[in-house]
Amino acid sequence: MRTKTYDVVVVGGGTAGVVAAVQAGRAGARTLLVEKHGMLGGTMTVGGINYPASFFAEGRPIIAGIGWELVRRTLEETGQVLPEPKNAPRHIRVDAVIFAALVDEAVLAAGVEPLFHALPASATLTDKGWKLQLCTKTGLQSVWARVLVDASGDANLVRLAGFETVGSDVVQPATLSFGCSGYDPNTLDYEALKAAADAAVAAGEILRTDVSWREDGPRALLLKHGHNANHIRAPNAETSEGKTQVEIEGRRSLLRLYRFLRRQPGLEGFRFDWVCPETAVRETVRIRGKTIITASDYESGRQFPDAVCYAHYPIDEHLNDGRGIHARPLRPGVLPTIPRGALLPAGSRFLIAAGRSVSSDREANSALRVEAPCMAMGQAAGALAALSAKTGLDPEEIPMGDLRALLRMHGAIVPEQKNLQGEVAISGE
Ligand SMILES: Cc1cc2nc3c(=O)[nH]c(=O)nc-3n(C[C@H](O)[C@H](O)[C@H](O)COP(=O)(O)OP(=O)(O)OC[C@H]3O[C@@H](n4cnc5c(N)ncnc54)[C@H](O)[C@@H]3O)c2cc1C
Repeated sequence: MRTKTYDVVVVGGGTAGVVAAVQAGRAGARTLLVEKHGMLGGTMTVGGINYPASFFAEGRPIIAGIGWELVRRTLEETGQVLPEPKNAPRHIRVDAVIFAALVDEAVLAAGVEPLFHALPASATLTDKGWKLQLCTKTGLQSVWARVLVDASGDANLVRLAGFETVGSDVVQPATLSFGCSGYDPNTLDYEALKAAADAAVAAGEILRTDVSWREDGPRALLLKHGHNANHIRAPNAETSEGKTQVEIEGRRSLLRLYRFLRRQPGLEGFRFDWVCPETAVRETVRIRGKTIITASDYESGRQFPDAVCYAHYPIDEHLNDGRGIHARPLRPGVLPTIPRGALLPAGSRFLIAAGRSVSSDREANSALRVEAPCMAMGQAAGALAALSAKTGLDPEEIPMGDLRALLRMHGAIVPEQKNLQGEVAISGE
């Protein structure tokens, strides 16, 4: 069988990867999108976190382009009212099933070739470009690519290609989302339930984090019928071994919760209606990029000269001990940027990373990882990859003007360099 050749191969069809692939395809690049699941959307669909933040900040849109187009099309399809910029909520809930189906359509319409149930096994840069080996259901397959985009969230491809990643001894907990019913939330005694949960924690029957992120018992979980309700420890979740452990811990947590709740008055009929096929992971490793975004860069709203998009979210570290979140909002008027250099692994050529693994310190990453910035990074990565494949220039050598022009042509909001008054223009809105 002839080895297929692509301009761009995107690994990971999640929040960032689908936007990267659609952008590369629309820019005319022959693009392959490799995804280990059978559904696109990643944490937004398979992980059950279908409420992307932050397309808007301080009353104006800060992220648009292909990511917003996919969200907007989902809202329109499901008859939801589009938010007004001046009072848009930080999180915008979308129907995950419709979002995934519309993403399939957008990927195919852009001429992108999707390949599901496949993962990369090796990546080698040769004189002829990248040689990528893929594990497919029928064995190993090789493909060639001019440029690779790692949108796995875990920098899996960057590591396979031999470049450094950075992690921490302690990582934020993950969440196994579920839906539940079989009770009337209006008739429950939440004080008594909290006392029962405290006693069950003390007796070692449940973990505090099985019922809540915080020290407030199962109230929120029961009122919201599940969803993003628990915390699961998630060390080394960028590896198959670590991820296996996380998935088993997630289901153990659900089993403890089930046994505990069914003993409580009013919850005898408690049942799970659905559970996500994968535990959603907040933190694994980041790439060591040509630029590393620090918390100080982020919180001071540093305007990088090679900025490709904005981001806007509090520093948001979820704690492992059930005490909730360590959150630090941005000061009013601060609008951080993400530079191209944070998408390029140090020492690499023709390799780009987008999404949660963006080069950043832990604190900055806890804010940069939310979905709208991941989509914006994906669009920047897709545009950069398409330009690199077309010109033969390394992504770092692509003139910023060309990158900005292509992104704007596809609807993105791209930060400008400061003008003489020190103001930063927002264009492309
Ligand atoms: C519990 C939780 C709650 C959150 N809450 C919010 C929120 O309310 N709002 C918000 O905006 N953000 C939230 N976030 C953050 C946000 O959802 C993620 O950080 C973001 O979606 C990550 O996008 P990504 O593209 O980097 O990764 P993902 O969306 O996870 O996509 C990675 C994709 O790559 C695939 N993949 C992984 N490894 C491989 C491989 N080796 N080969 C092939 N495919 C691979 C995966 O299957 C997946 O499809 C939350 C995150 C979590 C975990």
